[in-house]
Amino acid sequence: MSFLEIFSRNINQEKKPQPKKSEAPSHWIKCKSCNALMYYKEVRNQFYVCPKCGFHLRISAEDRIDFLVDTGTFVEHVQNLRPIDPLHFVDKKSYIKRVEDAKEKTGRTSSVISGTAKILNDADIRAQTILKVSEGRPNIEDMIKNGEISLVINTSDNKASKDDAKKIRESLLRFNIPYFTTIAAAKAAATAIKKLYHTSFLPTSLQEYLSETF
Ligand SMILES: [Zn+2]
Repeated sequence: MSFLEIFSRNINQEKKPQPKKSEAPSHWIKCKSCNALMYYKEVRNQFYVCPKCGFHLRISAEDRIDFLVDTGTFVEHVQNLRPIDPLHFVDKKSYIKRVEDAKEKTGRTSSVISGTAKILNDADIRAQTILKVSEGRPNIEDMIKNGEISLVINTSDNKASKDDAKKIRESLLRFNIPYFTTIAAAKAAATAIKKLYHTSFLPTSLQEYLSETF
């Protein structure tokens, strides 16, 4: 190949339209911490933790749901959720234009994804779904009364679940069943229960305990 041919070929290549950044295939991910370039499947298989330096990369909402819940059990709620623009806000471009651009990029009408799914079965924890008090009968309260529940962990974060929690607590008190309202307390209880399988203990006063510790 002559020098001229090589030169003209390079010129032609330069003229060839390049895909826009947003259209280019993103099969490679660059770690923001160590700059390592990695194949996206390798990173995804590591739950987006950089295999080179341990940096936690950004995870899309879809991937996070996929990693977290039992396969095929996620049911999305309020799919028509979409932002409104009561202030008709404009900075470099209008808020509505930003929303439209984001929709085109992600295929979603909102940055919020709301839904329910099963989690425990994938973690090899045998699980059964039961109704909340507000969802009908037989529900958790009925199971407590029937002696089918030995311990309850219930974290409530909204008005409806707090109302449910109140009814559950009343039943639990009546039947003398232990109850935990935070994940931290539930973890501490699970650790204590696990220990009790292997060791026995005697009650110790704080003074005795502290004199042994210090
Ligand atoms: Zn890294």
